[in-house]
Amino acid sequence: MNTQNVIIIGGGAAGLSAAIYLARAGFAPLIFAGSPPGGQLMLTSEVENFPGRESILGGELIDIMRKQAVKFGSEIIDENVTSVNLGDSIKSIESASHNTYKSKAVIIATGAKALWIGIESETRLRGKGVSACATCDGFFFKNKTVAVIGGGDSALEEALTLTKFASKVYIVHRRNEFKASKIMQKRVIEHEKIEIVWNAQVEEVLGVQRVEGLKLKQIQPNSTNSTNLTIEVGGVFVAIGHRPDTDLFKGQVELDEKGYVYTSSTIALENLKLNSNEQNSLKIQKFNTQYSTQTSVGGIFGAGDCVDHVYKQASTAAGMGVQAALDTERWLEGL
Ligand code: NAP
Repeated sequence: MNTQNVIIIGGGAAGLSAAIYLARAGFAPLIFAGSPPGGQLMLTSEVENFPGRESILGGELIDIMRKQAVKFGSEIIDENVTSVNLGDSIKSIESASHNTYKSKAVIIATGAKALWIGIESETRLRGKGVSACATCDGFFFKNKTVAVIGGGDSALEEALTLTKFASKVYIVHRRNEFKASKIMQKRVIEHEKIEIVWNAQVEEVLGVQRVEGLKLKQIQPNSTNSTNLTIEVGGVFVAIGHRPDTDLFKGQVELDEKGYVYTSSTIALENLKLNSNEQNSLKIQKFNTQYSTQTSVGGIFGAGDCVDHVYKQASTAAGMGVQAALDTERWLEGL
């Protein structure tokens, strides 16, 4: 069995950008793009903020990146990886079709998934007014009324972003207090375009071709009584959290408590936030400051939304993919 130079796990913006750089540098990367391949961009309709493209469908952007990666000598396998062994100097990866692959370096670019409420109408109208990213899609809701679902920092941040476009923004939260930080709470409560609907659960997203409204069930505080409520909105932004796709890597590389992959740069930021204690400094010693995208294990790099829970953009994922490719290249050359 051939040992690859580098295997990239993940075929979204981060993984494919890493592949383009590594292939062009002659390392012939092997990419496991997953099944279905393409990551979160495949769920987006129009992308208008990817530098260099005024407007492009998410799926088309991924398609171009795949062709670009293959053109320079990458191989793409549209399969999921089912297990990994990253502890040895030669890393071992098993795919869903029970084939085992060996590699000197690995880039983890498995992305994250937005959490959804899980009702049929939400799935049906995704990309037709239902979104999980205000920065990506807010622009399409100029002078419209929209709703954000959730009560954490993400939801409040999405709501504030949307006030730049929409004429009115509802925040629909299932409890009567926010989970978000006090400063964000103050900003939304004081914002003239924002109205908060407390104690409300989404029963249905209304609309056939596009979102037209939300059917809510509002529970009266300290009671089991509930009332039905309908609000007219043209867009619904679900912001109830994300989950990184990193279960495969538990126990293999250091992950944070939510499952995001720690790299040298994110652990350094974390260290600034946390009080240094013995456990934390032991963890930090595993990271190599030479490579900002390297994980706690030598030769294993991380990029994109499985690392980043702050920026979460296609272009930032692509940028981090490029960083991981350059780090991998230097690391391979140093072997
Ligand atoms: P989060 O803090 O877990 O909040 C999720 C929110 O969604 C909660 O209010 C939760 O309600 C609600 N929710 C969960 N499942 C729901 C469901 N099925 N239906 C309706 N509502 C549901 O997630 P997040 O807001 O994405 O934040 C994740 C982390 O990133 C947090 O640590 C946050 O502080 C951080 N973050 C920071 C910033 C910033 O500092 N600028 C920005 C964004 C995120 P309950 O309140 O009832 O649990």
